[in-house]
Amino acid sequence: MNTKIKVRVSNLVKNFGDNKVLKGINMEVHDNEVVVVIGPSGSGKSTFLRNLNRLEAPTSGSIVIDDMDIADPKTDINKVRENIGMVFQHFNLFSNLSVSENVMLAPVELKKRTKTEAAKQAHDLLNMVGLDSKFNATVQSLSGGQQQRVAIARALAMNPNVMLFDEPTSALDPEMVGDVLAVMKQLAKQGMTMIVVTHEMGFAKEVADRVVFVDDGNIQEQGTPDEMFNHPQNPHLQDFLDKVL
Ligand code: ADP
Ligand code: MG
Repeated sequence: MNTKIKVRVSNLVKNFGDNKVLKGINMEVHDNEVVVVIGPSGSGKSTFLRNLNRLEAPTSGSIVIDDMDIADPKTDINKVRENIGMVFQHFNLFSNLSVSENVMLAPVELKKRTKTEAAKQAHDLLNMVGLDSKFNATVQSLSGGQQQRVAIARALAMNPNVMLFDEPTSALDPEMVGDVLAVMKQLAKQGMTMIVVTHEMGFAKEVADRVVFVDDGNIQEQGTPDEMFNHPQNPHLQDFLDKVL
């Protein structure tokens, strides 16, 4: 693993009114590292990811990604989002656009690429996610799993340095989950820095460099998959694993 620190989160606090959701999270993610975040529903996992690309503004604390201070209101939010790809549970593709148009939209709109370059890149990305034959297809003609793979291709089209995944397979029929996880695994192999919130413990065991257990707004325990799954220390982690494994 590369030792360069790509993401540094320090004392991240997020309150929604009286609801103290993140209570001082500290986390460092290295270049090429795959961190899988696990934890019970409502523990703040989505809020954590949403702070990382400023879909939410932190109450306090700092988030530095590639030397950009995300939490600083002066930081250009568009630059932040170009650098950080995000894939959600509900893929939110533009249903009035074709598959390739979805992938090409942001690079062309933001003048990162000409239409010709963007089309070539969309071919390559759709090939990578196993959907090159769907280049001209409508979004509605795709299954949920296929749509999620298009959403991954769309996020990659901006050449992000970090990819965030928020339960990318939770809304899918079980038979679709494997194809999406396979794409994520391939991305990890290619050296993408990834933070993945998931309940897919098989993926965590196989792909994660580090597993982080979040509960009650804090990181309660973290370690290698072997440490976390075979030798959990924190009783809340033990309870959680008893429920999900
Ligand atoms: P998880 O992803 O681990 O299930 P979330 O981050 O979605 O947890 O939610 C953590 C807590 O933050 C919950 O109590 C939720 O109600 C609250 N919360 C999340 N987003 C908002 C919001 N935009 N406004 C108010 N409360 C929110
Ligand atoms: Mg969530």
